[in-house]
Amino acid sequence: MSQLLFQDFQPLAAIATTPSGAKKLQLLCQTAGATLWIPESLTGIENAQVYTGSLKTHLANIWQEYRAFVFCLATGAVVRLIAPLLEHKSVDPAVVVIDEAGQFVISLCSGHQGGGDNLAQLIAHQLGATPVLTGAASSLGLPGIDVLGVPFGWCRGEGNWTEVSATIARGEAVQVIQQAGSTLWQKHLPEKHPLIFEESLLSTKNPSPPLTPLPVNGEGLGVGFFNQQFKAKIWITPNLLQLPDATLPQVQWHPRVLWVGVGCERGTPKPAIEAAIVEVLKANNLAESAIAGIATIDIKADEQGIIELCSDRNLPLQTFPASVLNSVNVPNPSKVVAAEVGTPSVSEAAALSAAKCQSLLVTKQIFYCDAEGKLIQNTSPDQDKAKIPNRQGAVTVAIAQAEQEYTGRTGYLYLIGTGPGQLDQMTPAAQTAVTQADAVIGYSLYIDLISPLLRPGQIVEALPITQERQRAERAIALAQWGLNVAVVSSGDSGIYGMAGLVLEQLSTQNWDGKTPGVQVFPGITALQSAAARVGTPLMHDFCAISLSDLLTPWEVIEKRLTAAAQADFITALYNPRSQTRTQQIAIAQDIFLQHRHPDTPVSVVRSAYRDDEQITLTTLDKLLDAPIDMLTLVLIGNQSTRIHSNWMITPRGYLGFGN
Ligand code: SAH
Repeated sequence: MSQLLFQDFQPLAAIATTPSGAKKLQLLCQTAGATLWIPESLTGIENAQVYTGSLKTHLANIWQEYRAFVFCLATGAVVRLIAPLLEHKSVDPAVVVIDEAGQFVISLCSGHQGGGDNLAQLIAHQLGATPVLTGAASSLGLPGIDVLGVPFGWCRGEGNWTEVSATIARGEAVQVIQQAGSTLWQKHLPEKHPLIFEESLLSTKNPSPPLTPLPVNGEGLGVGFFNQQFKAKIWITPNLLQLPDATLPQVQWHPRVLWVGVGCERGTPKPAIEAAIVEVLKANNLAESAIAGIATIDIKADEQGIIELCSDRNLPLQTFPASVLNSVNVPNPSKVVAAEVGTPSVSEAAALSAAKCQSLLVTKQIFYCDAEGKLIQNTSPDQDKAKIPNRQGAVTVAIAQAEQEYTGRTGYLYLIGTGPGQLDQMTPAAQTAVTQADAVIGYSLYIDLISPLLRPGQIVEALPITQERQRAERAIALAQWGLNVAVVSSGDSGIYGMAGLVLEQLSTQNWDGKTPGVQVFPGITALQSAAARVGTPLMHDFCAISLSDLLTPWEVIEKRLTAAAQADFITALYNPRSQTRTQQIAIAQDIFLQHRHPDTPVSVVRSAYRDDEQITLTTLDKLLDAPIDMLTLVLIGNQSTRIHSNWMITPRGYLGFGN
């Protein structure tokens, strides 16, 4: 199951040269789905691949095959081994080193773009070790500027990434000019950071401003006044900026916001369609990597040239029926097109429909392709019927900018149980999932309890306890958009927790069970942690009943209380009392007293495993004297449960015990 959490690093290789190192990596390889490599001198290690000759030669042979390497070896040795193989941080694999004692996991190389920092943290949670991250961004609590847009599917453009990162590391002011894409990341930065946002360009009323072609050097736009203070600039833009070397160091991210509407004559070859699109982007200073996808009319869903283009460039194709396109207001409707396909516009209407917006960034451009495959642009858009001798096809292109970028990713919902509260009571898989997630959503108290697992750049949304449905909806929306979202609940997420709400909600939305993906991470539920704190009260058949009648009719709850009391189940009462629901616990006591001895042992455990933990051992008849609130779990013993020196013990069976 944890393999899913390591999917960004596949194929993953682990390398050890000593027996203890190999053993350390063996388990990790199982959970992470990694290949373990050992020298032939090591014997008795199962499921490992053996290399012959020197590790140096072997590493050179497999270097290109893997996306990440985990070594259990002296750091110095690793440095010498990988040094000749390193090329550039944009292409090198992540390299992580674990010490033989398994105490530290060092992110050695490609910490940002290769994901080494993340990998080191994930492995550290699996091993219960400390991740060692030495990058400056991580110590500032900032996401690496060169990985900032990864969760949103942004593409890194040209720029001086090293210098801009160094400027941030020095704490010098860096201007951020965001003209497209999600601004969510801006809301989750540490209190102090050196980024200064150019707000005027992106107001909520106008999130996708019509972009006039930018000055080629990326300067201007009314920000000159502040320019002196900034030591670097980060552009987040669909535009392709020609950044000059001489001025401030600058970088550009390209969110995928451009929907390219395409219309074409049947049989227009792919190179012609592609050339037409590239031409339009170039003429408008737009980045090819900012393309979200291609949009057209549904009868073109089988158009060979369009299909090939989408598959070559890994672009989604959105198609719309004529009836939908027909209802879109476009600047350049055509009677000829309307007569042919039943809508006066294909490219413009499709671009607008896919981008879900009202105005185009680039209006319809028409191209013809001659017999030699050469592209000829038709500069007068009203001459739809213009004829080129021997023409091979015709293409129309229009572009619209979407408010929300296309991430190109399938999101996951990790439904996580955090256990009673203390981190060491949470499973390593659940801890890893929290760290791996792009976004973490939960009730603020639980988010505080797991805060050591959070990493810079994560979107952390702590919502009040009452807004459970909103939390579920928000998580689903983010996952549908393409993010990996951790939804955290205390105890077990599937026991009176958020997991049920999320799946319930998904099931009302035509969910196919796969997109977004769902993974449930179990946690220690309150009845287990409370039981552990008082002894072994759950050694025989038991049940859990929630006394909350907010979503369940009280008659149903009463019926269950009676049945449990009659059947001699050890009974855990969840949600026993709130400020407004005070009577339910008294009624429950009455019901149990009708079937069980007044001396039946009862434990009342408040905030198990948390700093303010409070444990009361009492009996059924005195239950109401104990401090009971919404953070409390009540455990009522069965007829054989006993108290011995403050330990609550339920025998394994009934036979032979003094009833
Ligand atoms: N998903 C949670 C239960 C949520 S319902 C789980 O599996 O544990 C909330 C109720 O759980 C509280 O009213 C209380 O009865 C119980 N509870 C949760 N955490 C607790 C803790 N640390 N100590 C005692 N009771 C707890």
